[in-house]
Amino acid sequence: MTKKDDYQRTITYGDSALNYIKSNRLPAFPRNYELWYSYASGFNLSLNRSINKVLSRDGSISSDEVERIYNRFLSPNRLGERIDEVGEKIAKEVRQLAHNLDHGNLITEEYGARLAKALQELNGITGQEALQKLILDLIKVTTETVESNRQLKNELMSSRRQIGVLQEGLEAIRYESLTDELTTLNNRKHFDKSLEKHVKEARSSDVPLALMLTDIDHFKQFNDNFGHQTGDQVLRLVALAVKKNVKSSDITCRYGGEEFGIILPRTSNEEALDIAEQIRRAVISKELIKRSTGENLGRITISIGVAFHKSGDTPMSLVNRADQALYAAKRAGRNQVKQETLPDEPDITVTMS
Ligand code: GH3
Ligand code: MG
Ligand code: MG
Repeated sequence: MTKKDDYQRTITYGDSALNYIKSNRLPAFPRNYELWYSYASGFNLSLNRSINKVLSRDGSISSDEVERIYNRFLSPNRLGERIDEVGEKIAKEVRQLAHNLDHGNLITEEYGARLAKALQELNGITGQEALQKLILDLIKVTTETVESNRQLKNELMSSRRQIGVLQEGLEAIRYESLTDELTTLNNRKHFDKSLEKHVKEARSSDVPLALMLTDIDHFKQFNDNFGHQTGDQVLRLVALAVKKNVKSSDITCRYGGEEFGIILPRTSNEEALDIAEQIRRAVISKELIKRSTGENLGRITISIGVAFHKSGDTPMSLVNRADQALYAAKRAGRNQVKQETLPDEPDITVTMS
């Protein structure tokens, strides 16, 4: 994209952001501007969905709602803050649980002591009236203890439910911290961690491991022709083609802007090349039609480089070879799969006469 394109595109988003701020009569704080700029650009699908939901429900959006949505989707500290929040709640729940268990112990001890005392009293008891009093006393203590235990059980069950909810919250945070929002593939952080893990596994157990890097062909041109937002939809489409053609054990990640990295553990070279070919075909097989206008945007293609783990590999050396293979695919004319250059074959031909 040229600087002039950037200028025009961003000014349009900026103007729209200000108009949204004015029409909702919100203060034009930088945070609000950031939120509405993101909304106008449409880059953050979940943010747009959240705002649209409020707008279709209430017709306008309040400062409080805006703040809530900002904190949820844009605040640079959002994940850290949510982790702190869940952590605090878990600590509170655990304190409550410990308190309840202490209380439960105390009740049992007191009941035990009361029974022991009753036993002693029983030895020296004379007369029916005294016996009746002791029994009534014991019934009262027993009823109170049963009631306290019932309350304790309810509190423990409520803690268990609450901890279950908090566990789900933590799982959602973990998912978000490892997921790319635009494509819902794993993000670069997850790619780096997974590759490290699988290279270690391949090194120690000698199981095969393949790595694939994909890159959309002439994507800059596509963005220039049809706009960045349409480009984003194409990214989602390519991500879908990748997801549909890999095995459930393969790890699909957004490696960079329009590049995906796919880790294929325990996959033979042939199988990895087959999968790459299937992905390439799935992408070119789709004719892109803009739903809003019916405009035919043609087809897009991708190039793919595939490398295979070999002894002594590090994550970086494997990525480098997949990258070289990808560039070989580009140089060879794009829309193709290339595997890493295998060790040079002997440069001698022997002819038998
Ligand atoms: P090539 O065939 O050599 O790959 O050509 P290319 O134009 O695709 O070149 P390159 O891979 O270097 O281009 C990257 C372009 O991808 C630049 C940018 O316009 C686009 N791009 C990167 N990230 C995004 C994104 O998140 N959304 C959109 N819409 N476009 C992106
Ligand atoms: Mg690229
Ligand atoms: Mg490209």
